[in-house]
Amino acid sequence: MRCPYCGGLDTQVKDSRPTDDSSSIRRRRICPDCGGRFTTFERVQLRELMVVKKNGRRAPFDRDKLVRSVQVALRKRSVEPERVERMINGVVRQLESQTDGDIPTERIGELVMEGLKALDDVAYVRFASVYRNFREARDFNAIVGELEAEPDPLPAREPRRQRRDAPAS
Ligand SMILES: [Zn+2]
Repeated sequence: MRCPYCGGLDTQVKDSRPTDDSSSIRRRRICPDCGGRFTTFERVQLRELMVVKKNGRRAPFDRDKLVRSVQVALRKRSVEPERVERMINGVVRQLESQTDGDIPTERIGELVMEGLKALDDVAYVRFASVYRNFREARDFNAIVGELEAEPDPLPAREPRRQRRDAPAS
């Protein structure tokens, strides 16, 4: 595994253990060249996924790229890494099980938006604004309005913050 800091190829595994739900193995690695430390996850991959971009080009699905775009959306938001990991796992499982062949990038974007909506409203709006390529403020307002209008589809797993217009209790 190449070191993400210096590009060194000789990184070493210091610790290896299953994640809480045992769906993956988490490894702590260290780079002897620069001392950099990082974590990798080993997971089951049911099959190779190919993504079709808007310009028609095909490329292997890159989970790390998906993780990075989700992390950008979640920057400075306090969402537990394990929940983010589960959300990403869910997106990938859906891609693996629903498609028979190439995946349009739009499909990935939609699944990630659904996942983020359940995790964090702010991250959802951030991701949607990039993904839908908002050009005008009214696009942004439309999606915020969509969030406010939507009733919670499931009983919340954790207390939701009160809406401003909710009667005081
Ligand atoms: Zn290094």
